[in-house]
Amino acid sequence: MRFKFVLVITGFALFCAAVQLAAAKTSAHAQILDGQGAKIGDAKITSAGQGVKIVVKVSNLSPGEHGIHIHTVGKCEGPAFASAGGHFNPTSAHHGVHNAGDPHPHLGDMPNLVVGANGTGSLTFIAAGATLGDEANSLFHGGGTSLVIHAKADDLMSDPSGNSGDRIACGVIEK
Ligand code: ZN
Repeated sequence: MRFKFVLVITGFALFCAAVQLAAAKTSAHAQILDGQGAKIGDAKITSAGQGVKIVVKVSNLSPGEHGIHIHTVGKCEGPAFASAGGHFNPTSAHHGVHNAGDPHPHLGDMPNLVVGANGTGSLTFIAAGATLGDEANSLFHGGGTSLVIHAKADDLMSDPSGNSGDRIACGVIEK
């Protein structure tokens, strides 16, 4: 009887460890900070079929459309966030879904983030082709990646970043 109990407990512990391991490989998150280092939002990232699903929630931003992209370096040094590098672009593509050049868009391109009159906004997007694994197209490639929000709307067609203006917020994508 006692032996059976120990087996059940051991089995449950192994199951929990396996669940934890799986979770570590299929999800990520980012804390989004403004240029002064204040937290203004977050992102939850999960594996989704042939890509990754990104759910962004922000507050304290100016109303209107803001460009938002995955950038190719996981480093957010305010206030200008130049440290985040260019858009995540492992396929050497042009910027934007409406770019006249092929191939396009960047793997790190996303639709504009729409912020309401109260300063809050949210966006759910699936980055098709991105992963959370060890591949070149992983958000955890060497040096990592980050999410960057821009001052203006992205025109979704102009290289290299859609004329979206200054970088106003940034979050390192972390496991
Ligand atoms: Zn781009």
